[in-house]
Amino acid sequence: MTKLSPGHRQMLDDIETGVMLTRSHTGRERLDPRTLEALRQVPREKFVPDNMRHAAFHDGALPVGHGQTISQPYMVAIMTDLLDLGPDSVVLEIGTGTGYQAAVLSCIAHRVYSIERIPELADSAARRLTRLGYDNVELRCGNGCLGWPEKAPFDGIVVTAAPERVPPALVEQLKPGGRLVIPVGKRYSHQELEVIDKDDNGDTSTTSVLGVAFVPLIDDASAAPL
Ligand code: SAH
Repeated sequence: MTKLSPGHRQMLDDIETGVMLTRSHTGRERLDPRTLEALRQVPREKFVPDNMRHAAFHDGALPVGHGQTISQPYMVAIMTDLLDLGPDSVVLEIGTGTGYQAAVLSCIAHRVYSIERIPELADSAARRLTRLGYDNVELRCGNGCLGWPEKAPFDGIVVTAAPERVPPALVEQLKPGGRLVIPVGKRYSHQELEVIDKDDNGDTSTTSVLGVAFVPLIDDASAAPL
């Protein structure tokens, strides 16, 4: 096992503390060993901008340009864990950003698809993931509210930006038995992290897990331009 830097070790400790403190909301006292191992494996310092490298392991979101952020490590951890992925899972992420969450998912799942709407972020995430050898991740630039119908259905879908309402295409593209993890709510006001399960009959049930703060998921078909 490779030795972790003190900062990286501290990040894992902070995540585990966060998981303990939120267990009454999430129902999870500790992370699945696969989630924890993925968080050990992925070098977060290689996903943050150079001028933010000193804060790479800080347990908070960081700006990455274009008005966007790389999510807080605890949030990446709990969203990944809530997906309950295994080695055969096919997963879709909406909001690639830096590619960090996609890299974490790729250590657990069979295949990861991720969609980003800002071309510059999509390009640099694609180059970074290739350079670091994450070869089971496929990226696309576009409107994630529409999902990725050609690659559907998915065992899990994770959305790392908040829409006001759950995009119906994402629920449609879940497999029976699949799970969607998504923050929902208005910009700058209360958002809830929701877990939406699709049962074998295609019926869904929703559980609200935590109050959260994400950048908005922008539906290009209906929203103002950048
Ligand atoms: N998961 C990222 C952080 C995401 S920040 C990481 O690990 O670094 C949220 C991202 O969602 C931003 O990059 C934003 O541009 C993107 N986004 C917002 N609306 C979107 C949409 N409709 N489709 C795809 N991406 C979207």
